[in-house]
Amino acid sequence: MPAVLERLERWWNQLPASRIKLKLGSPEGLEHDRSLVVAVAAAIEARQQRLGGAAAELQVDANGGWSLETARAMVSWLADAGVVLVEQPLPPLLDPEADAAQFAALELDCPIALVADESCWNLADVVRLAPYVDGVNIKLLKSGGLSEALVMARAAQRLGLEVMLGCYSDSALLNGAAAQLLPLVTWPDLDSHLNLVDDPFEGPQLVQGDGLRAGDGAGLGVSLRPASPLAEALAPGPGPWSCC
Ligand SMILES: [Mg+2]
Repeated sequence: MPAVLERLERWWNQLPASRIKLKLGSPEGLEHDRSLVVAVAAAIEARQQRLGGAAAELQVDANGGWSLETARAMVSWLADAGVVLVEQPLPPLLDPEADAAQFAALELDCPIALVADESCWNLADVVRLAPYVDGVNIKLLKSGGLSEALVMARAAQRLGLEVMLGCYSDSALLNGAAAQLLPLVTWPDLDSHLNLVDDPFEGPQLVQGDGLRAGDGAGLGVSLRPASPLAEALAPGPGPWSCC
């Protein structure tokens, strides 16, 4: 718990974020999830009281950690706690129809935005889940690249869904590619490269008042950091592979 609040303050020192996403579905159980939400909601409220302006929006990601019964109870509680969105409350199922049926069973009881992540990998998943969710989380490592991700984002919009754009522990290289889709995205979640201490690339940057933006350079707006070990390894120089 203290580590989560400390991390939140560290982020706020970098950027006055207007949206906070909290990871739930803890193996320690629902009480742990609930206490995290209460603590972070209180931190958001305290910051808003201190600085004025609008309070940051609170979203949660259960990472498939709840059963249907638990999820039904939690979404009502989350709504009362001021949470506006829940991502992947139920574990993804290999059977596509059974997976969609889970979302269908929860959707009617869900007073907050319901978003699919681990259940949604490609265009077929967007179409399959569209009747039962409010949004989908698109990641390049799930879609396999920008082409499928672009088709997914456009299809989601045509189907009335909002788009979240996510990542794993990706560097600025992959997040720079994903950032090309930002104009199609309601909920950008491309922060992993900002947590890396030795990212050999630079790309999307946090811009005060404007959130995350793709890099300004040519192509994907990504470049090698000149002092990185990767840049030094790739630098031209003498070696058995040199030619003239
Ligand atoms: Mg997720």
